[in-house]
Amino acid sequence: MLGAIEAGGSKFVCGIGATPADLITTQIPTTTPAETLEAVVEFFRREAGRDLEAVGIASFGPVDPHPGSPTFGYITCTPKLGWRGTDVAGTVGRGLGVPVGFDTDVNGAALAEARWGAARGFADFIYLTVGTGIGGGAMVNGKLLHGLLHPEMGHLRIPHDRARDPYPGACPFHGDCLEGLASGPALRARWTMAPRELPPAHPAWALEAEYLALGLHNLVCTLSPRRIVIGGGVLHQPCLLPMVRAELARLLNGYIEAVEIVEEMESFLVLPELGDRAGVLGALVLAEEAAGRS
Ligand code: ZN
Repeated sequence: MLGAIEAGGSKFVCGIGATPADLITTQIPTTTPAETLEAVVEFFRREAGRDLEAVGIASFGPVDPHPGSPTFGYITCTPKLGWRGTDVAGTVGRGLGVPVGFDTDVNGAALAEARWGAARGFADFIYLTVGTGIGGGAMVNGKLLHGLLHPEMGHLRIPHDRARDPYPGACPFHGDCLEGLASGPALRARWTMAPRELPPAHPAWALEAEYLALGLHNLVCTLSPRRIVIGGGVLHQPCLLPMVRAELARLLNGYIEAVEIVEEMESFLVLPELGDRAGVLGALVLAEEAAGRS
């Protein structure tokens, strides 16, 4: 039996099982680290007991994902109050006495989409989510890219014409980085309306498509993905994805001579297939790896 934890800023989704079909999940609210992690450990003790083999955690961040580092499994410099410097993997691992696999929430989602979803069969792809924040994971040569820490695709710098869009940006670190300009909270602040209430004809969506396409342009040029899976709450507006595809093709301007981009943009830039389950299913893959099964 494996344990899977999607650690989010508002809730922890905890699952027990061995496959997506038999995974039983519950939600624990994210309050203080001590209270939340104690409830998480208690859930697995009660529901799985000694049958638990390993746990995988896909966490909000930034995090330290490097096994062997003194702060492996920590949430590091998050702006989320009280969670800075929290030893998530260690607390869960010691509490349950099992090995723990740990990575970012978006890397987890990328793993799950690669195994069961929209990136099946792809060794080189990007998973990007556009919601409360913007985050991305990259699979390169069949392995998740970590490098120094982990990619922070939401914090790419993109051109920002302040005459046209005077909104200064929502990122507490950079102001008008990609996340600062194009996340759900940025949309809400700029247009003083929740993204889901903005009608398809609203100029918000053309601007949003432009910003996302600028970010994707940079990702296509640096990481050369064979597919990009893009999801998150902001993409729930159905008019947006076709606009981003068209804008990305326009920006690239024929320079990347690949049939995927020139002729097959509909299958190059796609929605995720696992929806809200991607995070916890990614944690399940991390648990399998921690158990030494894959
Ligand atoms: Zn930023």
